Amino acid sequence: MIDTHAHILNEYYDDIDSLVKMLKENKVLYVLNAASNYNESLEVLDLSKTYNNFLLPVIGIHPESINDKDNLNKIEDLIKNNKIYAVGEIGLDYYWVKDNKEEQKELFINQIKLAQKYNLPVVVHSRDAIQDTFDILKEHRVKGVIHSYSGSVEMAREFIKLGYKLGIGGVLTFKNSKLYEVIEKIDIENIVLETDSPYLTPEPYRGRENNPSNIYYVAKRISEIKGIDINKVLEITTKTAIQLFDI
Ligand SMILES: [Zn+2]
Repeated sequence: MIDTHAHILNEYYDDIDSLVKMLKENKVLYVLNAASNYNESLEVLDLSKTYNNFLLPVIGIHPESINDKDNLNKIEDLIKNNKIYAVGEIGLDYYWVKDNKEEQKELFINQIKLAQKYNLPVVVHSRDAIQDTFDILKEHRVKGVIHSYSGSVEMAREFIKLGYKLGIGGVLTFKNSKLYEVIEKIDIENIVLETDSPYLTPEPYRGRENNPSNIYYVAKRISEIKGIDINKVLEITTKTAIQLFDI
């Protein structure tokens, strides 16, 4: 199993040593470890060295960390000098702040350009901003994943046409979620699994702290919706993640 999106940081986990050990025992092969700002980028790089070839670094500036945008040059230096698996998590978030849309778009586009320059995929965060996200990705072509996808079936198809994968996590297991309609209608080849740990813990553990081994429950739900054996779900999504992030 590969968790294509988690935040394994000292801020959230007291004992990353034990966590990594537990994950390996539970057949997690890799975790794409996403930063949200410059300091976290340094930390995920540090952790990737400590847990060699297991916590794979994804670095960038999240739209909620827009005040960090002057550090973009330093982010580029990190990309130049380290093995990075994607630029992320980057994107647009109009949920909390709506009066800086142009600033958010500019930072998003600048980071997509970094991904293009260094031939990396992007890990895209989009909340209450799906149309603007789509318009930007259509204009600035790069490969990547729409993390924690939560849009319509139609929009899912449009992203897939552009070559994007959809990151599917714990939300799929929530009773009130309509995400199953998307899963029903798209091919499994377009999906990668993610937890967004420590957030969005899937059922049956909703409410507790999340960790990357819980992608098993996301795979299980996909297997039920699509009528595909869970081992097949894990095999196909793992293969897709390996190709997308060039692991
Ligand atoms: Zn995240």
